[in-house]
Amino acid sequence: MPNEELNNPEEQEEAHSPLTPEQADRLPRVHRLLLGHYGEPKLRQSPDPLTQLIYSLLASRTQPAAAEHGMRDLERAFHAGPGNWEPVRDASIAELERAIAAVTFPEQKALRLKALLEQITARVGSLTLEFLARYRTGKIRTWLQQFEGVDHHISAAVVCFSTLRRRALSIDASYLRVAQRLCLTPRADAATTEERLLRLVPETWDAARLEEHQRLVQLLAQTLCRFKDPQCKACPLLRICPTGERNLNELQLTGD
Ligand code: SF4
Repeated sequence: MPNEELNNPEEQEEAHSPLTPEQADRLPRVHRLLLGHYGEPKLRQSPDPLTQLIYSLLASRTQPAAAEHGMRDLERAFHAGPGNWEPVRDASIAELERAIAAVTFPEQKALRLKALLEQITARVGSLTLEFLARYRTGKIRTWLQQFEGVDHHISAAVVCFSTLRRRALSIDASYLRVAQRLCLTPRADAATTEERLLRLVPETWDAARLEEHQRLVQLLAQTLCRFKDPQCKACPLLRICPTGERNLNELQLTGD
């Protein structure tokens, strides 16, 4: 991925210079502390790329439990599933909207899902994404992001969590919030944050380890580092978190 989004010459230079030991341990340290707190998270079996794409579209801005629920309902309503998504593509918008009522914005997602599956069929000649395995990671992501509703974090989820198993970080709103509070990298949008964070990912981390890392951060975002009222006192990352330290200092000043 290009580095044009790095804001100034110092950042450009930093992007090409070797990491200091402190920088190199930034993500592994977060990972170790979260593993110590939550234990190994349960990972889903890697789905095929198209199934992951459909799931990621439903899961966008939705709690994971609701996304699982929506996916199950979708499969059940149309007797569809991995290798057989044609019934979903051929359903009406109203039927789709009813089937995915458990997720947020079902009306918008029903429209996008149908258009996405129709456009993939038109481009590929059948409803499958298995051919993407022959492409380099960057090319896969560019190809996926040509479709409306498939943004940077969805393309990262498809390449990393599916059977494609490529290195990527799916920076959704939760991950971005945690990364910014921890000051892991300078504040930026999701695409630039992914680019910067991938520089901090150890060479030895494969896609499975990256998925584990993202699940752990997701758990933290849901349970402690919530959008409102983060529970910094109970957070395993407090000792390395400038925002947590500031929050606790403010609490002491106000006497809470
Ligand atoms: S210490 Fe607070 S702000 Fe920092 S990561 Fe933990 S919950 Fe979030």
